[in-house]
Amino acid sequence: EIRARILSAFERAEVTEDDQRREALLTFVVVGGGPTGVEMAGAIAELARKVVVRDFRHFNAASARVVLVEAGNRILPTMPACLSAKAQRQLEGLGVEVLATAAVTHCDGEGVMLADGRHIGSACVLWAAGVMASKAAKWLGAAADRAGRTVVDERLNVPGHDNIFVIGDTAAVKNEDGRPVPGIAPAAKQMGEHAAHAIRALIADNPVEPFRYRHFG
Ligand SMILES: Cc1cc2nc3c(=O)[nH]c(=O)nc-3n(C[C@H](O)[C@H](O)[C@H](O)COP(=O)(O)OP(=O)(O)OC[C@H]3O[C@@H](n4cnc5c(N)ncnc54)[C@H](O)[C@@H]3O)c2cc1C
Repeated sequence: EIRARILSAFERAEVTEDDQRREALLTFVVVGGGPTGVEMAGAIAELARKVVVRDFRHFNAASARVVLVEAGNRILPTMPACLSAKAQRQLEGLGVEVLATAAVTHCDGEGVMLADGRHIGSACVLWAAGVMASKAAKWLGAAADRAGRTVVDERLNVPGHDNIFVIGDTAAVKNEDGRPVPGIAPAAKQMGEHAAHAIRALIADNPVEPFRYRHFG
């Protein structure tokens, strides 16, 4: 769907007579400078500059504007600052405009509004500023964190309920060192494996080990 919309923005830009409209059609705004937004902005810039660059006659596709908007003071905020800087240089090398310390406050069919009052006209805005967990915490009447993830104990149980496990992206789990377990596929798989072992232990009346996340990089 995203690919189709991006390509159709180029095609609509080819047929429009309105310069302002063409500019908006050739401006792609990606909101959120996490891994998803960084990857998406880079992919759109490559598409414009390498894949479709010779396909249009009324404009130069390589001049398409790709803007990555990040509310924090750097992209990839969960990674070391040197990697953020390196990723920013690589994106800029691809022609992406990186706007840090720029929070989006409004988004509609005309583009996005930033907290400082700037408006970026765009017909194609991609939201990559985070996901919300399922409503499991609400259904269970359990505590949830800011993203709606169910807060679980060290065995991945809803506190006080050793027969209810919450695992994967929808669980808010802390590691031994108190740091949150990241919402990535290897963590979800390890939690699944842990829950399976825990259920077998419960059935056999054996003690259940606490969950320990192992980060393999
Ligand atoms: C854009 C993006 C890029 C990512 N890139 C990476 C990456 O490069 N590496 C990495 O390790 N991780 C990555 N992740 C994270 C990774 O996808 C998740 O951590 C992982 O999928 C979590 O697994 P899960 O089983 O908890 O949830 P999911 O994979 O989301 O599976 C949940 C399933 O439950 C279904 N479901 C939801 N609600 C209900 C319901 N009420 N009833 C029945 N079924 C329901 C959903 O349809 C879905 O199929 C990325 C995530 C996103 C969004």
